[in-house]
Amino acid sequence: MFAAQDITKGEFIIEYLGEIVSRGEANARGIACEARAKESGGGAVFIFELDAERCIDGNFPYNDARFINHACRTNCEAVREGDRILFYAARDISAGEEILYNYAYPLENFLDHPCNCGFPECVGYIVSELDRKKLRRLLRGRKPNRPKNG
Ligand SMILES: [Zn+2]
Repeated sequence: MFAAQDITKGEFIIEYLGEIVSRGEANARGIACEARAKESGGGAVFIFELDAERCIDGNFPYNDARFINHACRTNCEAVREGDRILFYAARDISAGEEILYNYAYPLENFLDHPCNCGFPECVGYIVSELDRKKLRRLLRGRKPNRPKNG
């Protein structure tokens, strides 16, 4: 999704529209959708976490916000207002710039969510900014790392 006009920091961009479902239902839909995507080679899951119990399934043509791509460097933020998810500009955005948001998947299954955004802060996986440091340490631990004197 690209900005059609200049957007000022703090300005409302778009709402993430969809159907509010329980976390269990969202997980079931996500798994079914991923299975379909594997068969057809296309498709994606558009589940946005609303709170601990509920998610918004945004897999509907009227939800243009589902086209916002992930990147580890972002220019907008999602704010929960009641049962709604609203995207606001986190800085000034120029017309033609891509709108980017950090999907911030849980660290536990980072391997399922590789990232190739190319920004210097990218760890290679889609995780929250807060989890990046932890993941860097984790990834370093996975490589053979022998002390010189030992
Ligand atoms: Zn990245």
